[in-house]
Amino acid sequence: MKSITRAKPMEEIAEYLQPFNRIYILGCGTCATMTRTGGVDQVVQMKERVQEIDKWVTGWLVMPTACDEMAEADMERAAGNLDYADCALVMSCAMGVHRVSESLQKPVIPALDTLFIGLEEEPGHFREVCDQCGQCILGETAGICPLTACHKGLLNGPCGGTDGGKCEVDSDRDCAFTQIYDRLKAQGRLDLMRRARPARDYHVELTPKRAIFSDNEEGG
Ligand code: SF4
Ligand code: SF4
Repeated sequence: MKSITRAKPMEEIAEYLQPFNRIYILGCGTCATMTRTGGVDQVVQMKERVQEIDKWVTGWLVMPTACDEMAEADMERAAGNLDYADCALVMSCAMGVHRVSESLQKPVIPALDTLFIGLEEEPGHFREVCDQCGQCILGETAGICPLTACHKGLLNGPCGGTDGGKCEVDSDRDCAFTQIYDRLKAQGRLDLMRRARPARDYHVELTPKRAIFSDNEEGG
């Protein structure tokens, strides 16, 4: 499971960097390396692009995992050049940007947009699998999430547009409910296909979401 990111346009990054002269670049050795948005190659490329807009890059570092609690220690290793910078340009997902922002007493600029949490289907190809809705129904949909697999995010389907097992929105893709049907049928659980699911209860989707894990509780 990875945090999937996409590079922001350089024009947008340049606008963010406009008030600053000395820039330190931080990458991430985990998800952003896998998605080729914040690994060593992309950080070195970003260094050149930042220099092209007449900024001084004081240094760069690809942290092993930008979002974890070791990020602060990683940044301490870079202290000299990082302290000298006016801001940090972070090439990680939003979780990494949050982590860096909490540890660093200077402006932090994200260089990437965080798109979704996904699984890698083949090298370099990622598919969204979960919208973190807090009301998981995978147990009755044979492990396929209709919120992310269906173009309309339907809980009950298919819609009237499904055609020959394909999705009406994108005919290259199988309809999510055809996939659910096929898998439930293979599991001998087709009765679940007839179950009408109630509308989602948005009261359980409080923002910001929080979870507390304790030895005394069964769930989170
Ligand atoms: S139903 Fe879908 S979006 Fe909700 S928790 Fe399960 S996999 Fe995630
Ligand atoms: S055809 Fe299937 S996947 Fe596409 S929008 Fe309709 S129900 Fe969803």
